[in-house]
Amino acid sequence: MSRVYNFSAGPAVLPEEVLKEAAEEMLDYRGCGMSVMEMSHRSKMFQQIIDEAEQDLRDLMNIPDNYKVLFLQGGASQQFAAVPMNLMKNGKAAYIITGQWAKKAYQEAQKYGEAVAVASSADKTFSYIPDCSDLDIPEDADYVYICQNNTIYGTVYHALPNTKGHELVADVSSCFLSEPIDVSKYGVIYGGVQKNIGPAGVVIAIIREDLIPETPYVENTPTMLQWKIAADNGSMYNTPPCYGIYICGKVFKWLKKMGGLEAMKALNEKKAAILYDFLDQSKMFKGTVRKEDRSLMNVPFVTGNEELDKKFVAEAKAAGFENLKGHRTVGGMRASIYNAMPIEGVEKLVAFMQKFEEENS
Ligand SMILES: *Cc1c(COP(=O)(O)O)cnc(C)c1O
Repeated sequence: MSRVYNFSAGPAVLPEEVLKEAAEEMLDYRGCGMSVMEMSHRSKMFQQIIDEAEQDLRDLMNIPDNYKVLFLQGGASQQFAAVPMNLMKNGKAAYIITGQWAKKAYQEAQKYGEAVAVASSADKTFSYIPDCSDLDIPEDADYVYICQNNTIYGTVYHALPNTKGHELVADVSSCFLSEPIDVSKYGVIYGGVQKNIGPAGVVIAIIREDLIPETPYVENTPTMLQWKIAADNGSMYNTPPCYGIYICGKVFKWLKKMGGLEAMKALNEKKAAILYDFLDQSKMFKGTVRKEDRSLMNVPFVTGNEELDKKFVAEAKAAGFENLKGHRTVGGMRASIYNAMPIEGVEKLVAFMQKFEEENS
């Protein structure tokens, strides 16, 4: 068996330890004679799995008691609709457009109410985070929406926007659990887990209780998109993505063992610095993002020559570095270096880039 260094933006690398443990438990989960995939979601065994997962997440993120933790389905994209349906009391919200995912959320919200774009970095291919210190936010906006880490463009909010008292809603899909955050500053935090936590098919939403409406504000909101229904049923109104939740739970335990989110932050900063420091001195490779807005998780870079980019991606693949091809809207390369990417993976990638630069200049 050989494993590659997988720089995929998502679904993405998972901790090897977690995969091994899951493999060991595949046929017989803790003496119950079946795998987690095969057990009833109403069983005591599964209830314990989901309860422990929630508690470990609460511990890791220091989630205050007045926030609900929901395990949902439909991808982060489904929440693009659920957010306005459950939050647009006045039928209005402010969106900050920092990339494709923020734009998609904004466009989806327009179907259900008035979504106002209050800032955007589209003018420079989303290579920076706009100044959000004094935005023109409508008084009656129900919330301000951000995509906190922009997976495709490699930018991140190092400071949260000034929402002027409005609730903040954040899609954290690609920076979930990468560093500590102050949950109390947000109304809603949500993300698909397939970037930094677990297998595709699970979305985690952390929602302040008082924001969960008895009934959604949009008429005929599907039952499955009503946060209240999910909350009242312990994320089990219907069959939840049981196996995915089980793997997420294992990753939470792995994160605790790694020292929690402070330790992950330090490690992620170290990993990112290795790559960014190399990019900053390289004559061939260049980062595409304004320095002060660089993501710790997704690092896009280019050579400025499409043929050379292609050659690099192909040779990197042959050398065991997978999924380095950049998103089609940015071109070039992108290295996603999520929590589970070991530091050796980044060190070896940089050594490979160095060698490539020497051989091709
Ligand atoms: C990947 C991604 C999404 C889309 O997630 P799905 O689960 O495929 O719907 C949304 N937002 C961000 C920030 C992402 O990285």
